[in-house]
Amino acid sequence: MNNTNICPKCGTSVNEIFETGFVGCQECYNLPEVQKVIDKMYAGKTHKE
Ligand SMILES: [Zn+2]
Repeated sequence: MNNTNICPKCGTSVNEIFETGFVGCQECYNLPEVQKVIDKMYAGKTHKE
């Protein structure tokens, strides 16, 4: 168990976010594991400029 994998504001775990695809609140985006995934998502969707 790692507290960095649970949102300190709403208590949603990273696993729950990944399973449902929804974050509990804006603070969830600040979780390191969530940011990693978001970075990958954006990297794959980034449009060429
Ligand atoms: Zn949250």
